[in-house]
This record gives sequence, C-alpha cells and structure tokens, in this order.
Amino acid sequence: MSPFRTSGSAPRHIRAAQILLALFSGMAGIPACASTSYTLSLANPEKHLVQVQILLSEGSPERELQLPVWNALYQVRDFAQYVNSVGAKDRAGQPLPVRQLNPSRWQISGAERGAVVEYEIFVDSPGPFGAEVSMHHAFFNLAQVLMYPVDGRNEAMRVRFNLIPKEWRVATPLNPLPEGEFEAESYDQLVDSPVEIGTFQEADFEEGGGHFRVVVDADPGDYSMETITTMLHKIVGSAMSWMDDRPFQSYMFLYHFPHGPGGGGMEHSYSTAIALNADTLAGFPEMLTSVTAHEFFHLWNVKRIRPQTLEPVDYTKENYTRALWFSEGCTSTAADLIQLRAGVLDERGFERALSSAIAELEQRPGHARQSAEESSLDAWLEGYAYYRNPDRSISYYNKGELLGIMLDLAVREASHGQASLREVFQWMNQNYAKKGKYFPDSNGVRDAAEAVSQANLGWFFEKYVAGTEEIPWNIFFKGVGLHLVEGKSTVADAGFAASRNFDGLMRVTAVTAGGEAEKAGLQVGDSILEINGRAPGQDSSQGLGGLRPGDPLAVKLRSGRSTERELKWKAGKREEVSYELQDNETITAEQRIRRAAWLRGEAEVSKTN
Ligand SMILES: [Zn+2]
Repeated sequence: MSPFRTSGSAPRHIRAAQILLALFSGMAGIPACASTSYTLSLANPEKHLVQVQILLSEGSPERELQLPVWNALYQVRDFAQYVNSVGAKDRAGQPLPVRQLNPSRWQISGAERGAVVEYEIFVDSPGPFGAEVSMHHAFFNLAQVLMYPVDGRNEAMRVRFNLIPKEWRVATPLNPLPEGEFEAESYDQLVDSPVEIGTFQEADFEEGGGHFRVVVDADPGDYSMETITTMLHKIVGSAMSWMDDRPFQSYMFLYHFPHGPGGGGMEHSYSTAIALNADTLAGFPEMLTSVTAHEFFHLWNVKRIRPQTLEPVDYTKENYTRALWFSEGCTSTAADLIQLRAGVLDERGFERALSSAIAELEQRPGHARQSAEESSLDAWLEGYAYYRNPDRSISYYNKGELLGIMLDLAVREASHGQASLREVFQWMNQNYAKKGKYFPDSNGVRDAAEAVSQANLGWFFEKYVAGTEEIPWNIFFKGVGLHLVEGKSTVADAGFAASRNFDGLMRVTAVTAGGEAEKAGLQVGDSILEINGRAPGQDSSQGLGGLRPGDPLAVKLRSGRSTERELKWKAGKREEVSYELQDNETITAEQRIRRAAWLRGEAEVSKTN
C-alpha cells in the first residue's frame, strides 16, 4: 500500500549486498549485514497453512516483529488472529526468547548475531484484498502473511516460496533473482507486490514503450486472452497518453474470474489484482474494462500522486485521510475519460452512467449530512452493516467520481477552456509524484485546480468537498450544452436495502418503516442467505432483478444468534427518481467545442510547451 517512486532497478549498494546474500542459505547462512529474508513454505495447502521463516541479520539484541493489522482495504482485519505458534532460534539453532508485546507484535531477544523466526499462519481469504492458499492455487497480499522487523522496514528484503507443487509457477511484479528468489527495496515495496502461484495462463505485450504482463487464473472457457489483451492495449495506451507519462518499465495485470460472489480490484504501483465473477464477465464484459481502467490509473492516483495522510503507512492502526473522494472517486472519473479516449465507451454510455451516478447520490439521504471528506474519513467504518445504511453514509467512490466530473467542468469554465481535469492530474504528477512529495489532501487538489485554471476555486471545495451543499448540476452542465431531466417511475419496492462487506454475509442495512418487509419481521442487521431461492449478489438490488410490484418474496435469513428462518411478503411499489442528460434546446458553438473537448478529456486549446 505504499508507493515507491523509482521505476528503475535497485540502488547499486543494495544490489551488491543482495549478490552477497545470495551466497548464503539456511540456518548457517544468516547474513552479516543488510536485508531480512523470508521463506514461505506451502506444505499444507489443503489446510490453508503456510510456514513462514524469517532470517534476521545481525543487529541489536532485541528485535521487534510486527504483523500488519490492515492492508489492501481500509479495514482493520487483525491478521494476527491467524498466526499459530511463533518461535525463534539463533544461528546455532539454540532457542531464543520470544515475548508477545501485543496481539500483533513480538519481541525476540538475543538476536545480536541474527536470528531465525518461524511461525505458521492460516490463509484462506480469497480475492484481490486477501491471502489464500488452497489445493487450486496460492495468492498473497504479503502484508497479511509477513511480519516486518520494526527497525528494518525500509531495508532491502528477499522472499522465496518453498514446497510448491511441481506444475505450479510464480507470478509477481517483484524483481526475480537467481534460484527462485525475489527482491524488494523495502517491506513497503514487498507488500505492494501481489503474488500468484498456480497453473495460470499468461500473455504479454508492449505498448507505448512499456512491457505488460497478463496473468489469468480462471477456467479457460470463461474468458478469451485475446479479447483481454486487445482491451488492455487500448486502456493502457489511452491512460499513458492522457497522463503523458509512463513511470514504469513493466506492469502486471493479474486476473481471477471466480464463479462465487465477491470481486473487486486492488491497485499496486507496478501491478493490479482484479477479480470479477465469471457470469458477470460473460454478461457485462465492459465491467472488466471499467475496473481495469480504474485500477491502472491508480498507478498514478494514490500510488504516486499520494495524499500525505497515507504516508508513511502505519500498519499498526487505522490511517485516516480526507482524500479518498479524490484518490478513489476521481480515479473513477479519470477511468471514464480514459475509456472515452480509448473508444471503448461512447458519449451516450458515458452520459447514461453519469446520470445513474447522480441518481445514486441523490437517492441516498445521507448526502445531505455526510460530506465527501467525512465519507473518506469514515472509510474505516464500511465493514459495519449499519454504517452502509443509505441514511447514514454516502460512498466516496460515487460522490468523488461526480466531484471529479464537476471539477473538470468547473476548471474548464474558470480557465475559459484552457485547462481541464487532465491538467489537474498532470500538475499533481509533476509537482508531487515526480518530486517525491505527497499532496496535502483536498487542499492539494485545490492548489492544482487553481494553478491550472488561474482562478479561485475555493467555493467548489468548501461547498461540495468539505460541505454538503446540494450540487447544482445544471449550472455545471451548462458549459457543455447539457441539462439534467428528472423523471419519476414506479418501481417494485422490496421494502429493504442490504449490502455486504467484501467477504462477509449480505446484511440488511435499512427497512422501510411501515412497509411489507417490516411487517413480515425483517430487521436491520439480519443476514440474508437467499432471496427467492438464490444467493444474493453484491447488493440487494442484484438479487431482485425483474421484481414487479406485488411479486412474492421469500427471504431466507438469520437474525442475531437465532437459527435460519424464512420470511415471506409481497413487493410493494414506490416512486423512484431517475435522471437523463439531454441537449439544451440551443447549443452555442462554444458549448459544442467544450463538449467535444470534455469527451476527449482534453483542454480546448492545446498548450505549446
Ligand atoms: Zn480504487
């Protein structure tokens, strides 16, 4: 989760140290200096167990080892819950004292001449935000598995994988060394590098001077590698030209297409891991394009254009930031523009998605109370079902994506078409990422937007980013000759809302007061197991596709500690607001030019520099 800003190889002194280290192995080979090295042994994949060995180099007698409490998601998950015994030995194999300091930290004594620390950890959390070892494959976010030496987190590290089945191979963006080892400049870089071990399919291609590797672990009947690489060519080419930058030599796409629920994408500096349900991929291939564009753009926004509040990463507790509306939401905005430029999304599709994003925000009553910045701070509450209640919270992805679009339009207006969101991102790339600096959350975005438009945009940030003022959509859309038409339609109302955490059960987050679901006995917090005989999807609306007013609902659920039961009721109806973006009656030449530039993601006047 931490950025490293150089795309080249390790500094020379680290390379020299690693060549030296490569001469050593095993107990007798505790290196005299430099790095920590890890060995992960997959001896018991059927039990989801990994044996970890850490070689600590010479140093102070007392060493502390920390296992992160969070990684990948902004949720404390206490990976230490999965650690079985922890032991330590000196270089002669004599036991060393190990004292647990807190649930996630251990102290080793007598380690002045180095030490070998060993532990066993249970890893059975599938998906791009997890770590998993099974009979099928292994996938690691290494921060969920590897403790780091508290006094050596910034030193070079090596990792090797042992006892892997003969036909399995290893894919990772880490730099390979001879004899099956991989190296990283630091723990942060090590754990920013996902690892897939198994019998995956592979492809690679060049685009814009960069090398791209595609690794797919899925049923070959569920996807076409050719379709994926064709899509990737367009997305990466479009993104790199939009940013006018390629801060890497090579980049890896790691895909899983499981048949079960769950999914999502996790960004890394030199790779991304993405999971998409195989049926969703078949029915909506554009979802793979969209999540890919989002995760790829993260290599700039959040990995390199990084909020100060996320640096340095504190693996021991929550890291609060007000910037996720930008780091996540505006990443989606950029992904929209990248897809438009790549020709994989057209104007109609873009405007339809934009209209439904507006409806999503407007339909959440929480938007009048929780700002985009507060939603960012509260990201750490998203694991709780009650927090996800539409009355309680908004999504910083949803509002942030819309704020990105409105900021784009506001910058165009303020600069008379001379600048756009593209210049905002490029300015931040030049003034923060390329200089090794972090941006001061929303103020950093404001500085960039004001610099490229040469205008005061404080009102935008005060009202819509820090504040909860209603966004006057049509004022923003006027410059591109569009306006929002509000419609109302009668839709089926199941009488409740539900959603799930990334790996948890579907939980009821809201029940309509006086509605049929409430009368049937449904309560906030209930866990939904089945809706009309089918396992629910990511949110309740997915389990209710095609529902009409009056249709019967049979919901199998569990309440608190009670046993499973089934509730039945009939769907009611309600008025739903929908939006459509339509052309203004008369469109001026200026509006036409601005709209065309907007849909290209470019300023109207190309700069001469
Ligand atoms: Zn993201």
